Amino acid sequence: MITMSVLNGGECCRGNEMYRLRIENHFDAAHKLMGYEGKCAELHGHTWKVEVFVVGAKLNDVGMLADFNKLEEILSKVIKRLDHKFLNDQQEIGNPTCENLSKYIFENLKGLPKQIKLEKVRVWEGKESWCEYYEA
Ligand SMILES: [Zn+2]
Repeated sequence: MITMSVLNGGECCRGNEMYRLRIENHFDAAHKLMGYEGKCAELHGHTWKVEVFVVGAKLNDVGMLADFNKLEEILSKVIKRLDHKFLNDQQEIGNPTCENLSKYIFENLKGLPKQIKLEKVRVWEGKESWCEYYEA
């Protein structure tokens, strides 16, 4: 007796193939940390660097996981709400720590192509410190 296995849609898998894309953008803004004892309780500003990582396994007909331009467009919509703003005025963020900012950006990246998963958002506060937000 011959047993045949039918593969989904005729596609064959060589294992767990995945692709990861990364884009970045920046914004300048002011904040002060509430309930914090130290210099950061005073009004000051940063240039924040934002990195967005998306993952997926299926490429489109062109051979892309997603169009970088489309991803940049989605990120820049969120950046626009933060750039040259006083972050404490934006109630949605909560206390504008690096942690809350990375979560806010993650949750506001809307309209990503459905074949990709938002893996994480990394927010740099200055050149030496960052926070990543992801959902396990
Ligand atoms: Zn700060």
